[in-house]
Parts: sequence; structure tokens; C-alpha cells
Amino acid sequence: MQSLKSFDPDIYNAIRDETLRQTETLEMIASENFVSLAVLEALGSVMTNKYAEGYPRHRYYGGCEHVDIAEGKARFRSKKLFGAKYSNVQTHSGSQANMAAYLTLAKPGDTIMGMHLNHGGHLTHGSGVNFSGRLFNVVAYTISPETGRIDYDEMLRLAREHKPKLIVTGASAYPRIIEFDKVKEIADEVGAYHIADIAHIAGLVATGLHPDPLPYSDIVTSTTHKTLRGPRGGLILTNVEGGEFMLANMPKPKTLPQAIDAWVFPGCQGGPLMHVIAAKAVAFKEALRPEFKEYQQQIVKNAAVLAETLLSRDFSLVTGGTDNHLILMDLAPRGLTGRDAEKALEMAGITTNKNMVPNDPQKPFITSGIRIGTPALTTRGMKEEEMRQIGNMIAYILEDLEDEERQKKTRDDVRELCKRFVIYDIPEAIEED
Ligand SMILES: *Cc1c(COP(=O)(O)O)cnc(C)c1O
Repeated sequence: MQSLKSFDPDIYNAIRDETLRQTETLEMIASENFVSLAVLEALGSVMTNKYAEGYPRHRYYGGCEHVDIAEGKARFRSKKLFGAKYSNVQTHSGSQANMAAYLTLAKPGDTIMGMHLNHGGHLTHGSGVNFSGRLFNVVAYTISPETGRIDYDEMLRLAREHKPKLIVTGASAYPRIIEFDKVKEIADEVGAYHIADIAHIAGLVATGLHPDPLPYSDIVTSTTHKTLRGPRGGLILTNVEGGEFMLANMPKPKTLPQAIDAWVFPGCQGGPLMHVIAAKAVAFKEALRPEFKEYQQQIVKNAAVLAETLLSRDFSLVTGGTDNHLILMDLAPRGLTGRDAEKALEMAGITTNKNMVPNDPQKPFITSGIRIGTPALTTRGMKEEEMRQIGNMIAYILEDLEDEERQKKTRDDVRELCKRFVIYDIPEAIEED
């Protein structure tokens, strides 16, 4: 980073300090991960300079022969990874992937069903502050207050009553398997489309550790930066090849893949981020290797051991455990809030986020829960033994939120632990004059 260092010390330092923070703390936000140096190199490349509106070999600009290779590889590899017939790798984020997918299958004003934000759904699944809640009439399904699991009977009842145009599945804070086959039955019964948003669990799906939504949905959307461990971005897949979709200014109907492409560009976006698409291609290549399956298996094992450790210290977990990469701690029985717990853990060098739990007595900005994930620490090479150690650290901190000595002592232990699991080299500090 020589040029940045001399030209812009402020930003150089911010990047350096962020590298240090990522290295010296325990990153347990369930949606975060650490990309490889190969992915970082592609991201920081000259492909950011290129305008490439359109799709490979059908661009609105000249000079696209090399970026076409990057996008072609990204498409091919993502199809192979998920066993999909069609892939669009251009969406800038998971939210944009959802926007393009919804608009492909529904019109503004139509009714859509998604999981309630406070029950683990995502903003784009129908929240009133998001495009999804503003453009569509939203009916939210929820989790059962008794079990903490998705209430599929309630989903069916709501679907029969409201006849949605589409049902969105997927979640941002749900520790259990999602039964896509059941949702498909519900969608078929009421004549709705099914979009499966696998933003969080994409890595598990790609390696067969979570049921595959492709056979049971019309469109699958995802991010590329969570368990999939690629650059920040979105992905759209489908195995439906036919269909008849009318698009603006087009006299003849299009197939579903053609309609998705058109809704991504020019429907929702302009020029694609070619450096990000190149980095996606690199990440998909990594994900196709056998080591990636071992990595995903370790994520799940690590989450299970962490859950076990916290249960052994008498903490409650929503649904009593986990099937995937994340855990939702319910702190209400301990009389704690998610906000205070998040803060105390952060002081101890453990980064998590507050999260609503079923029947949460607190407001969304306070909450009674903490969401904890293992993807990032597993990338660092941490295994069961470290998870036991970290589970006990978390319990120790939460048993007395006021005790700053505990936090300081744990902060030192965290730093020592982190030293054994190197992730990135720290750029050198700028010398003071
Ligand atoms: C993270 C997430 C998204 C959106 O991803 P962004 O890239 O942040 O827009 C969409 N859906 C679900 C379920 C998510 O967890």
C-alpha cells in the first residue's frame, strides 16, 4: 500500500487499524468472514476501471474481452458449485439480488410473504423501511414462540388467506435448517412463486450441509461474502429454464433466466463491478475445492461445540441449539439485554451483535439476544478446543457485565489466542515526524 501510505495517511491508517482490529479480536458476527489474499488481489485490481454494461459478449462498451473472461468464469463456476442451470453474478449486494428477483416475479402492489424481521428475517423480506415493504403488500410469517422454529402451519394458513404472489424464505438469524420442500408445497397449493434467499447459508448449501433449495424454488438469491467467503456482493441462481415473462418495451415474452438478467441490468443496476465479479470468480474456485467442504463442516462443528459450552454454563439458546453456523443466545432469563451484552463482549475483544429473540420484551435497538457465528473464526483455523475456550470466555463476561476487570483480563486472553491464528499481515505504522 505504498501509494496510499504517502498520498493519504488518514485512509492508510484507517485500513491499517481495521486490519489490526480484525486480527486482534474474535470476529463472531455470523454474517462476516475473512477473504483470501487471492480474492483481495482481484478486488484491488484495475477491473474496477472498466464499464461493462450488458452481459459477456453482449456489452454496450468496447474493450470488454478480458472482463468477459472474469464474468464467464464467475458464472460457470457458480453454476457448477450449486448445480444450477443459470447464474447471474452482477448484483452488487444481496439486497439488490432480492430486488431483481422480486421484480422478476411480482409487480409493485402485489402481495409477498417473508419472514418477519424481528423473527430472523432480513430487511429485504418485507420490512416497512425497505423497498420490499414499500413496493409490495407484505404478509409476514413468524417463528413459533414455543419452539423458536419457523411455523410452517402458520405459513400455510397465511398463504391460503392472503394468496401471495411469492413467498420468500431464508433468514439472517435462524439457527436451524430451513425446510424448502415444505415451503414449495405451500407455494404450489396457493399458486405462489418461491424465492429462497440463502445469503447466510450459501457455503453450507454449496457443500451439501444444508438442504438444497434449487429443486424447490423458482429463484435462489444469495450474498457471496458470508459463509461463501467471497467478496461483498450478490448472486442469483435458478434451475427453471422456461417461463413467459413480459418486460417493458419487449414485444415477446422472455424466459425466467432472460427476465432475471434484464431485471438486474438495466432493471435495477447500471455498470457491473467487474473487480468484484473477478473476485467472485476466485472465491467460487476456492469453494469448488475439497478443502472448502472441510471448512464448512468445521464451521458447523464449531457452532455445535460453542452451543454445548454455553448450555453447560446455563445460558438459554433459541431452539436449544443449532444446525448451522450460528447461535442465538436468549439473555432474557438472565435479565440481560442484547445491547449491554454486545457492549461488554466488545470490551473483551469479542465482536457479536445484539438480536431480537422470540417474544422479545425489548425494543429492536435494545433486544434480549446476541447472535454469534463461527464462519470467520473457522477461517482462521480455530477448532473445537478454541470454541470451548471462547464459549467459557463469553459466559464469564456475561455472568457479570459490570466487571471491567473481567473484560480487561479476557481482552488479554483474546489477544493471545488471536496471535496463534494469523489471518493477515499488519501493514506497518506510519512513522511520526
Ligand atoms: C445479508 C443478507 C442479505 C443482504 O445482503 P447485503 O449484501 O447486505 O445487501 C439478504 N438476505 C439475507 C437473508 C441476509 O442475511
